[in-house]
Amino acid sequence: MFAKVIVDIAHAAVDRAFTYRIPEGLDVRPGHHVLLPFGQGDHVKEGFVLSVSEESDLDDGVTVKDVLACAEPYTVLLPEQIALAEWMQEAYHCLLVDALRLMIPALLRGSRIHEKRERIVYLADPAAGFVSKSHIQTEVVDLLKQTGQPMSVRDIKAFLPGAAPAIAALLKKRVLSESSYTVFRRPEYSSRTEAVPALTEEQAAALQRIEALSPGQTALLYGVTGSGKTEVYLRCIEACLDRGQGAIVLVPEIALTPQTVGRFAARFGDRIAVLHSRLSAGERFDEWRRIRLGKAPIVIGARSAVFAPVENLGLIVIDEEHETSYQSEITPRYHALDIARRRVRMSGGKLLLGSATPSLLSYYRALNGSYELIELQHRVGGRPLPTVMIADMRAEFLNGNNGIFSSLLLSKLETCLKQGHQAMLFLNRRGYSTFVSCRACGYVLTCDNCDISMTYHKAQNAVRCHYCGARKPVPFVCPHCGKPFIKYFGMGTEQVEEQIQKWFPGTRTVRMDADTVAHRDAYEQILSVFGRGEAQILIGTQMIAKGHDFPNVTLVGVVAADATLSFPDFRSSERTFQLLTQVSGRAGRDRDPGQVVMQTYAPDHPVLRFARVQDYPGFYQYEIAQRKKCLYPPFSLFIRLLLSGENEDALIERGKEYAKALEADLKDALGAEGQGDLLLLLAAPAPIARIAGQSRYQILVKLLRTRRLPQALRAVYDFETSHREDGFLKIEINPQDMF
Ligand code: ADP
Ligand code: ZN
Repeated sequence: MFAKVIVDIAHAAVDRAFTYRIPEGLDVRPGHHVLLPFGQGDHVKEGFVLSVSEESDLDDGVTVKDVLACAEPYTVLLPEQIALAEWMQEAYHCLLVDALRLMIPALLRGSRIHEKRERIVYLADPAAGFVSKSHIQTEVVDLLKQTGQPMSVRDIKAFLPGAAPAIAALLKKRVLSESSYTVFRRPEYSSRTEAVPALTEEQAAALQRIEALSPGQTALLYGVTGSGKTEVYLRCIEACLDRGQGAIVLVPEIALTPQTVGRFAARFGDRIAVLHSRLSAGERFDEWRRIRLGKAPIVIGARSAVFAPVENLGLIVIDEEHETSYQSEITPRYHALDIARRRVRMSGGKLLLGSATPSLLSYYRALNGSYELIELQHRVGGRPLPTVMIADMRAEFLNGNNGIFSSLLLSKLETCLKQGHQAMLFLNRRGYSTFVSCRACGYVLTCDNCDISMTYHKAQNAVRCHYCGARKPVPFVCPHCGKPFIKYFGMGTEQVEEQIQKWFPGTRTVRMDADTVAHRDAYEQILSVFGRGEAQILIGTQMIAKGHDFPNVTLVGVVAADATLSFPDFRSSERTFQLLTQVSGRAGRDRDPGQVVMQTYAPDHPVLRFARVQDYPGFYQYEIAQRKKCLYPPFSLFIRLLLSGENEDALIERGKEYAKALEADLKDALGAEGQGDLLLLLAAPAPIARIAGQSRYQILVKLLRTRRLPQALRAVYDFETSHREDGFLKIEINPQDMF
């Protein structure tokens, strides 16, 4: 027998199948993780078996080496996963081995992680009498007699400290026998038990339509916040289990809290496995094995969980499908939604996308029929959507209020606190002040390594760069003109927290942003403090906008609703609308109705007008018309080639050269009738021209979406391949950020 094996080395030169002989007596199947001799020195390398056949395809006389061993007794890749990786290799132009590595725990490679086993001992002959001079040996035997069952060595030692030598001696005398079993290290979460609610009419209708989807089909579940989407997911999963199928549920990393997991655990208990970045290596390995060995047919996880080894996959759910975190920013730059579509087509399962603010692309696909559109228009229990009020900060200023809170927000906060309710204040900027500048000469304090202004952090009394982390002491005089007119502008979350103390002394607040959740458990701690009511106000960046369900929150304040509107990105309207809707949805989720105050300098902006009445379809119609007019996605596709390097002049030179060559390649690929597909090819320094000492230059390409798009993409990828050795070129198809 022969095996085609891909060696676990990420290099284009060896990224192909090599043929090995399977020695007699070794059970090697496709998907096995194997050890093999490789290269001239026959160094032992690891590899993955892609296929197995009776015949070798090598010419006679070519020496074939033997597979040495299987690293694990079970196959680590399902046939479906191998096929998926092969598809990714084509679609993302990546190394096959890079795609395969996404499907297994990183530490499995190199056997850097092992099963945890628990040793147990039992009486070899329970009926036999036992006499010994050793007091402790007698105690061990008595203990086992009393229990009448095998006991773990750990338990015995807990019961009888210092029993280890006695156990060893008893094993030697064969009074005791031993064996062991695998324990799975599991992440912690609380599964609050809750009664299974009867579905609302809308939910029941949604469930029925999802059940009726044909294999491989995708549905978009568009439901306002609090409409009970999660309950619909739970029922669909239940139906899957009844059919003997498995399911994967993706949620944004940030929403993957014990609270969310607890809801699934309450329904499905041990049949769920959890995958996210805060697991320890052991937990990750064991959760993966529980999935692979069929103990956990339901997986809940962040983006990469879309690769989980679930057999007989009946359903993939992507909650908050509009979230940007579903796009991977490292090679292979996959989007979880594309992988999920591919997977359900291969397995004959269904894909369910859920959101209160679908991405423009998904809603567009739903309206034109490629997705089934399913709606939940009402909140569960007839709870009203929160009332949204606009505070016009221009008018506040004219009335002499130059503070960060409007009088409206202040009075709503006062009432909320008085009633013993909780509030959330949202501002998408951390730190105290967002920039530091000299009033005399206009100098703005920027990072030495990056082309970006630095943020003032009062708690550390320092200014910091949010791109490279650089830190400087606060200047007292202007570094440029020497005058003492240094001022701080633009507020961040730190300042909001300080101002709350000024207005409402003694109020307990918690703040959640990248500064306060630096260590592993901080995020969950802050949420649980707030959840238990030990703080009255939660202040935070977009981290607080997603998915949380705090029944006592009746007021949400958006401190600067237009902060993200002015981003130089065609998606800024879409993202602002999504954020405003998501954060508003945190208010009034229980009995007490919710109120939202949005502070803005642009109350007439269409995004604000639609967000105020929470009219997603209205917003969609407005925004899709803008996109169509300017031929922005989904009507076109952006591609960015980012070059970076130390020498700015050489970089610009190279960038211009590349732009010319790429344009020629693209025009070639598009052919005579496709010349108009190339809407834009712009070579210029990136908006942030320097980060961490590296200059940045970009070539921005905009292509019309036509049937010729695959040819154009192929040309871009080929361009990348032929310039790969240069080492400073990065290609992003549909870049999520274009700074
Ligand atoms: P969404 O995910 O759409 O924001 P959730 O699924 O979190 O909404 O549901 C909002 C609240 O309503 C939750 O507290 C949930 O337990 C509750 N809920 C959902 N469906 C029902 C139902 N059919 N009957 C009663 N309560 C429900
Ligand atoms: Zn910097």
